[in-house]
Amino acid sequence: MPCYRCGIRQVDPERGKSPWRRGVLQDHQVLVCPACQASTDWAAELDHCGGCGSAHLIRRLGQVECLDCGLVRGEESWPAPSPPPPPPGRRGSDPALAAEVARALERVLGHR
Ligand SMILES: [Zn+2]
Ligand SMILES: [Zn+2]
Repeated sequence: MPCYRCGIRQVDPERGKSPWRRGVLQDHQVLVCPACQASTDWAAELDHCGGCGSAHLIRRLGQVECLDCGLVRGEESWPAPSPPPPPPGRRGSDPALAAEVARALERVLGHR
């Protein structure tokens, strides 16, 4: 597979660590040669992971997988990122519940 920008072909054997970078451009697997990596903002042109924003993606079996966070995208679009879990300590934001918890805690501590 040639470089998607300049069309140069990869001469190194596929095995081992290649300086070429893989990426996904408009749902197509592409390769970026070392020269284009150095001379262009290639990562900005490629598709990005919907989870972590990385351009380090591979396409296989009709899906796009992020090599950084492992998120897999199907045919349509990235799944909506799950909302971050509430920070600890904010669960008792309901004042009535908080008072209840405080009273229960008081009872427990008082019986010690
Ligand atoms: Zn190139
Ligand atoms: Zn990612």
